[in-house]
Amino acid sequence: MSKPDYTTLTPENIVAFLGDIFTRRGGEEYLGEPVTMAEHMLQGAHFAEQAGEPEVIIVSALLHDIGHFTSEFGTFSMDDTTDKFHEDAGAEVLGPFFPNLVTDCVRYHVAAKRYLCAAKPSYLKRLSEASIHSLNLQGGPMSADEVAEFEENPNLKEIVKVRYYDDAGKRDDLETKPFSHYAPMVQRVVDTHFEGDV
Ligand code: FE
Repeated sequence: MSKPDYTTLTPENIVAFLGDIFTRRGGEEYLGEPVTMAEHMLQGAHFAEQAGEPEVIIVSALLHDIGHFTSEFGTFSMDDTTDKFHEDAGAEVLGPFFPNLVTDCVRYHVAAKRYLCAAKPSYLKRLSEASIHSLNLQGGPMSADEVAEFEENPNLKEIVKVRYYDDAGKRDDLETKPFSHYAPMVQRVVDTHFEGDV
């Protein structure tokens, strides 16, 4: 079977495109964590699903780190590929196809860590060593002004929720369902977006 043409992404092929990234690139290591990139994102989705979250939250957790594979998106973000922050890259690729809520959860999952470290000191205990290390590279906890500004985002609650699933998805002892389990759900979220219901 030849590889589908993903140079033009559409609502019909975006889910297969994302699944293809999971298949081909998902085995890559998640720096400093005991899970691969695919395991990490699938675990986040797993915990969200287990908690009975709405599909937009499960899908946000599933796709939050998709921007780590920025080289996959070269065809439609011509101006920046290498030094782009992964959360922006992810939000950019998902933007045309997913509800704003999903895009916000992806775009702000790093900011949410900086936010929670400042707003909820007990949150630091949840973070893995690697995550604390990257926190420092990402600017450390937010300042009071940044916290106030971040809290103005109407999707704050969901952004924080997805951040918690992100942090939970770093276990070396958890079998998850494959991307194909979530594919119909991802498609539903895309379809709902185009129906204008979200
Ligand atoms: Fe993550």
